[in-house]
Amino acid sequence: LKKPNIVILGAGYGGMITATRLTKQIGHDANITLVNKHDYHYQTTWLHEPAAGTLSPERTRMPINSVLDLNKIKFVKDEVQEIKREEKKVVLSNGELEYDYLVVGLGSEAETFGVPGVHEHAFSKWTVNGAREVKEHIEYMFAKYNNSPEKKDELLTVIVAGAGFTGIEFIGELSERVPELCAHYDIPREKVKLYVIEAAPTALPGFDPELVEYAMNLLESRGVEFKINCPIKEVTETGVSLANGDEIKASTIVWATGVRGSSIIEKSGFEAMRGRVKVEPDLRAPGHEDIFIIGDCALLINEEINRPYPPTAQIAMQMAEVCASNIKSLMTGGSLKTFTPDIKGTVASLGGKEAIGVVGSRKLFGTSANFMKKMIDNRYLFLLGGPGLVLKRGKNPM
Ligand code: FAD
Repeated sequence: LKKPNIVILGAGYGGMITATRLTKQIGHDANITLVNKHDYHYQTTWLHEPAAGTLSPERTRMPINSVLDLNKIKFVKDEVQEIKREEKKVVLSNGELEYDYLVVGLGSEAETFGVPGVHEHAFSKWTVNGAREVKEHIEYMFAKYNNSPEKKDELLTVIVAGAGFTGIEFIGELSERVPELCAHYDIPREKVKLYVIEAAPTALPGFDPELVEYAMNLLESRGVEFKINCPIKEVTETGVSLANGDEIKASTIVWATGVRGSSIIEKSGFEAMRGRVKVEPDLRAPGHEDIFIIGDCALLINEEINRPYPPTAQIAMQMAEVCASNIKSLMTGGSLKTFTPDIKGTVASLGGKEAIGVVGSRKLFGTSANFMKKMIDNRYLFLLGGPGLVLKRGKNPM
């Protein structure tokens, strides 16, 4: 009997958990292949730290062959170009793969909302290489300041577009690091300007207002200036133009206004909203018995508020468990599970030993939230590779 080909696209939270679960559950009964651009897996939720320079990028990634048993799964390092649904094929930069079951976990790309200049003049890639680039760029601007005859203020101005989780976590780390950067590059602290610009009427929209106030007060005490209710009209070579007509000059603009699903989704002809496919309750793409879409590429409506769940690692991991179980059921004739997210809480770090969060019905501030954040980071490593991976790569929660 021919073993089915299962192809998993993307080695992020969704792809890696699917891969570990499938290799455990049906490793010898199927030909399982994982495709990823890089030969390493990175934890996207940690990337604000290397981007600000508070953590080595090496701590946020691990070789794929150190986590997966390559006797049970084939790894292909390549870039996905397109999914040919009718032919049940995936086109890669260097070849093609045929599948019986496909899992799409290609993650997300920056949402620009049509603002011109983002791709040209802002940093918008939340990847290991993207984080390295932001860190090196900021350090170079600081180094350049004292050597340039005009000592232009914009060299020391950083704008973060978007006061959602990513923007807040990044500015939290950076504001903690600025005193060290100033000491290192002989720059007076008051010369450094940090802005967070948000189009919505509040920072961290949808989050508990008391926690939002705590975060904003803390960040303001570290010198961050918020411009709320203030859409950006254009990003240029020299800074940003705001809808209210103002301009702010800055040499560093970090884009964090949210994401859309991988462009491969639309390129492959799936019906999608902002690159995300509204999946069936069993996580398959509508009209496709053999294609599962998980993580940031999947759109799932929270019926209680009739709005999509935000794309999170938490949901990607939970989807992966259900997806693996449903593929096994398709192979063995079992019944398919319906996916229901189990939102355990949300915690955002604010740099140093500070964070905010809601876990269950409890609000957390400061060091207790920071402890919880590190436990969440470690929990993922536990789910991926057991206690050994936590000991090897985990964070010290104290
Ligand atoms: P990803 O984890 O992004 O993985 C996608 C994978 O696909 C990557 O390995 C990528 O290299 C690969 N890939 C992409 N395109 C191709 C291609 N064409 N060919 C081959 N490979 C490809 N979520 C939380 O739940 N909690 C948090 O605290 C949190 N904090 C965050 C902080 C930051 C700074 C950021 C940026 C995001 C944060 N998120 C958080 C969101 C979370 O990271 C995402 O929701 C999660 O990574 C989605 O998982 P995924 O498996 O869909 O995709």
